[in-house]
Amino acid sequence: SPGGNVKVVVRVRAFLPRATTLKAPEVDTTKPRSQARGKVYEDKTFTFDRSFWSHEESDEHYADQEDVYNCLGEEFLDHNFEGYHTCIFAYGQTGSGKSYTMMGTAERPGLIPRTCEDLFQRIEEAQSLDTTYHVRVSYFEVYNEHVRDLLVPRTDPPHYLKIRESPTDGPYVKDLTDVPVRSFADIMKLMRKGDTSRTVASTKMNDTSSRSHAVFTIILKQIHHDLATDETTERTARIRLVDLAGSERAKATEATGQRLREGSNINKSLTTLGRVIAALADPKQARPGGRRVREVVPYRDSILTWLLKDSLGGNSKTAMIACVAPSDYDETLSTLRYADQAKRIRTRAVVNQDHVS
Ligand code: ADP
Ligand code: MG
Repeated sequence: SPGGNVKVVVRVRAFLPRATTLKAPEVDTTKPRSQARGKVYEDKTFTFDRSFWSHEESDEHYADQEDVYNCLGEEFLDHNFEGYHTCIFAYGQTGSGKSYTMMGTAERPGLIPRTCEDLFQRIEEAQSLDTTYHVRVSYFEVYNEHVRDLLVPRTDPPHYLKIRESPTDGPYVKDLTDVPVRSFADIMKLMRKGDTSRTVASTKMNDTSSRSHAVFTIILKQIHHDLATDETTERTARIRLVDLAGSERAKATEATGQRLREGSNINKSLTTLGRVIAALADPKQARPGGRRVREVVPYRDSILTWLLKDSLGGNSKTAMIACVAPSDYDETLSTLRYADQAKRIRTRAVVNQDHVS
């Protein structure tokens, strides 16, 4: 079958500063199929493709940003050059290391800058007369069930974009800025511009937490002209890198008023994501009478799942990075359950190639 399962990895960060270690589960990352054990509660086992232990730098198993890129980012970029769409999304509670993993810091760049750097390095190395490369980038956030372009200056009131669905390409954001880029420096400028523009609201949970879902998209088009046959083929790959909002429930942040409303809306995208993952993981639901029917996947119930439809259950090779902060037992358990379920999803990725002439 051409399909493959969603790749699921777990990344464990250090304890959150405010947290106690009382209920900390242990995650044994030395085994390829890692187990997470909640000492206070009961033993639980989950299956993943891999886990990254980023708990203590002094640890010999410590996984740094480069390790994460080498184990996941590089493989996914290989797929893109083969012509596959890919999506990597980071899931986890606020403070668990999603943005650190995806964006990183200036000194310790994460998956997005490393992917961009590797992308342009490969293009430079591959320069030949018969293939040309075209790269475009867009960056938007879903905040409060609204889509906002991160590559245009902020306005007050904010300008929201609409979603449309094309019969061939599926759901897309109408009028989203889509910039051609020629170098790593170009693309980094755009990434930073978008990050600055991203909505950040502080909550009791974490001052720097973001309550928005950020979707960074790179389109890689390779036009190959075969000099012998005079045939031109085009391969297009979409590289989607998603930094989700914190997965904790609104009440856990003791948010009130405006925040609570935003929180419950963010929950709508995340709870819908949960339902989409559940429906895709177990597509045949038993109905009364023993008949098993295919469940309708509720993509359209939230903005995020509607836009990520293809990445979650369609033409894409997809990976989930489940970020956990081991000091929070309940959130860790909930994230690991999510991840375990995502592991059962199969997508149907195909090489996106067209013969132009
Ligand atoms: P999230 O995006 O999930 O809310 P962040 O990625 O912003 O969380 O992480 C919170 C803080 O912890 C940030 O200052 C980040 O730089 C730091 N951090 C997260 N994970 C790691 C890690 N593995 N190693 C070092 N610092 C980390
Ligand atoms: Mg973040």
